[in-house]
Amino acid sequence: MNDANDNLADSKPGRFVDEIVLEDLARDTFGRPLLTRFPPEPNGYLHIGHAKSICLNFGVAALHPDGRCNLRFDDTNPAAEDEEFVEAIQEDVRWLGFQWNGEVKFASDYFEQLYEWAEKLIREGKAYVDSQSLEQIRENRGNFYKPGIPSPDRDRSVEENLDLFRRMRAGEFEEGQYVLRAKIDMQSKDLKLRDPVMYRIRKVPHHRTGDEWCIYPMYDWAHGQSDAIEGITHSICTLEFQNHRGLYEWFLEALGIEKPPKQIEFARLNLTYTVLSKRKLQQLVEGGHVSGWDDPRMPTLAGMRRRGVPPAAIRNFCDRIGVSRKDGVVDVGLLEHEIREELNRTAPRRMAVLRPLRVVIENFPEGEALEVEVQNNPERPEEGTRKLLFTREVFIERDDFMEVPMKKWFRLSPGAEVRLRGACIIRCNEVVKDASGEIVELRCTWDEQSKGGAPADGRKIKGTLHWVSAAHAVDAEVRLYDRLFHSENPAGEENFLEHLNPESLEVIEGAKLEPSLGELAVGEVVQFERLGYFARDRESTADGRPVFNRTITLKDSWAKIAKSGA
Ligand code: ATP
Ligand code: MG
Repeated sequence: MNDANDNLADSKPGRFVDEIVLEDLARDTFGRPLLTRFPPEPNGYLHIGHAKSICLNFGVAALHPDGRCNLRFDDTNPAAEDEEFVEAIQEDVRWLGFQWNGEVKFASDYFEQLYEWAEKLIREGKAYVDSQSLEQIRENRGNFYKPGIPSPDRDRSVEENLDLFRRMRAGEFEEGQYVLRAKIDMQSKDLKLRDPVMYRIRKVPHHRTGDEWCIYPMYDWAHGQSDAIEGITHSICTLEFQNHRGLYEWFLEALGIEKPPKQIEFARLNLTYTVLSKRKLQQLVEGGHVSGWDDPRMPTLAGMRRRGVPPAAIRNFCDRIGVSRKDGVVDVGLLEHEIREELNRTAPRRMAVLRPLRVVIENFPEGEALEVEVQNNPERPEEGTRKLLFTREVFIERDDFMEVPMKKWFRLSPGAEVRLRGACIIRCNEVVKDASGEIVELRCTWDEQSKGGAPADGRKIKGTLHWVSAAHAVDAEVRLYDRLFHSENPAGEENFLEHLNPESLEVIEGAKLEPSLGELAVGEVVQFERLGYFARDRESTADGRPVFNRTITLKDSWAKIAKSGA
């Protein structure tokens, strides 16, 4: 049924992981179904880098009929973790379009099993309790050129180790007084194998186990064993764990785990103009540089969702960049390109005026309204039409008028004609200014023979503007976002906070929307014609003004269209 050659056709280009998995399935290396896992630590929100890992882990599993992917919280560090993140991470994974295998898993569910395994290693002389401080241990570990110095406690008897370890668990000692270490090889070329710490005392309540434990397993001790408990076949992680692999394998072998999971490393995602480290993202939040983890400028999945980025765009982006073993930096323009592609396919078109300029149609009767039928998508007539009311006063975009037009200006100027989309042709007769010389209104006339926008005599009208009826417009706040950093590599700067783009947010208070936009649901994305894609924000008030976030402009104003990875 599950013929590896059939599956080869489905494996995604540039994903070496798929090839490894196919080979293992063909050989039945594990004697159990393909099982991957995504193992976030619940100490922050997921970002677009995590999306790469999610798409890879869930994507590999989805290529095979029996393949599954677990969601496991790596919650071994009680100090930094929080239930808020546990909830948010699940929401983000679901939003991206993935469903994990069975119940959500937690490394903390395995604390008892891990403890028993630790006792087993002690009994077999493979672990010991050390009274050195963590600094001493680090100091005595040596380095690539310097051999490690064995701890004076290294040859403690099994009985004494067991007794001390049990008393560590019972809470008899202070933090830092003892640790449990694996007894491997203080001279190993692999520094991770120089008697790594397995447990430390932490008298901190845990978000799930409360006060039950005061010793907590270290990452390396918890991770591989959690994989083994769940029957993971391929444990896919980022390259910085490559030097942990020897230890990963040592623990599994020492415990006699049969057909142990296999660790495979891939290059993490780095993006230009973006920081992707939870610690740095946390600094942005805590320093008030953004409004929160879901600020639409954040590269978090929560922020991108709020901004209006469709999950399919993120999945397509992750497919497109592929998976390799070589570190690199992806141009954020490629992500923006995928967002535009997806929204161009899916977002309905509507009209909205960001910086309104009042136009009075002098030959249009006061108090009347003309019903016009506007195509929902000029490029795709099959999307039908909607009815709008055209009235004596309309708003056009301030930028669509030039009093002294430059060359090739096809929009509005004194004496010139333009089309108001789907409505009619107007001509500008007079510019009205206030005492300070500011333009406050245009006096125009409309060509009654041009209903729908096509002049009866067939004369050529080059410019088409979007418009909103003044009598029917919905007032809105619109937030225009730009890149959060103006440095191409903010993470590489000495102080990344000094490279924030001061113009990353512009708030427009008095935008005017066509009426249907007042009823859009929070999170829905539309194209404001000629302007870009916009999502209704959750801060819209029920009775008051809607708030819209600009997801992205129509064109790449940074003029660096996706060269990389294309
Ligand atoms: P950060 O470096 O942002 O603090 P982390 O690695 O500490 O992230 P975890 O919660 O431990 O965050 O990550 C869960 C999984 O996501 C891990 O397997 C990790 O390797 C992967 N991951 C994290 N960042 C990236 C990235 N930029 N690209 C690809 N995968 C990533
Ligand atoms: Mg981590």
